[in-house]
Amino acid sequence: MGRRDEDEEGGEEEYLFKIVMIGDSAVGKSNLLSRFARDEFDLNAKATIGVEFQTQVVDIDGKEVKAQIWDTAGQERFRAVTSAYYRGAVGALIVYDISRRSTFDSVRRWLHELDTHCDTTVARMLVGNKCDLDNIREVSKEEGKALAEEEGLFFMETSALDSTNVQISFEIVIREIFKNVS
Ligand code: GDP
Ligand code: MG
Repeated sequence: MGRRDEDEEGGEEEYLFKIVMIGDSAVGKSNLLSRFARDEFDLNAKATIGVEFQTQVVDIDGKEVKAQIWDTAGQERFRAVTSAYYRGAVGALIVYDISRRSTFDSVRRWLHELDTHCDTTVARMLVGNKCDLDNIREVSKEEGKALAEEEGLFFMETSALDSTNVQISFEIVIREIFKNVS
């Protein structure tokens, strides 16, 4: 998945990037995506059902880029995210919850999973979500930053609840993918 040199109209290039959301259950993956794609947030923790991915059109330096962002249907609870989920991915957001250390401890396992399933270059962003919950924080920003540096990832703390850094996190990944393919 990536660059296609011709479309039906001829001339204009078309870009379609598959990006996957990964990370432990309930860290806010679905809400980050709904915040980015529809500017919506849902307080109720309900399993994502149905929609496999959302397509969002983004303008990168005057080029129309379609980001096809995949969300799990809750199967991460059973450690059963299939290889089909990862197939063709060129970007990934690895999400943890800053108020739950166990979700941060899982990050390396998710990175390993990503490595085993993807053979091309994947633009990767480590996302510490729920930064609005600073009062019950269990993972410091410095720890997040340090892990990201060690693993060569971009890093952001976000809040799907109050929108902090959501747009920019996706945009950084999309820009990096664009850089990788052009
Ligand atoms: P997923 O299992 O990773 O897809 O997580 P969800 O998006 O379903 O979110 C799990 C729970 O965390 C839900 O109750 C959300 O309302 C809540 N949540 C998600 N993002 C945030 C956030 O940025 N801040 C706070 N305070 N709660 C959040
Ligand atoms: Mg979900």
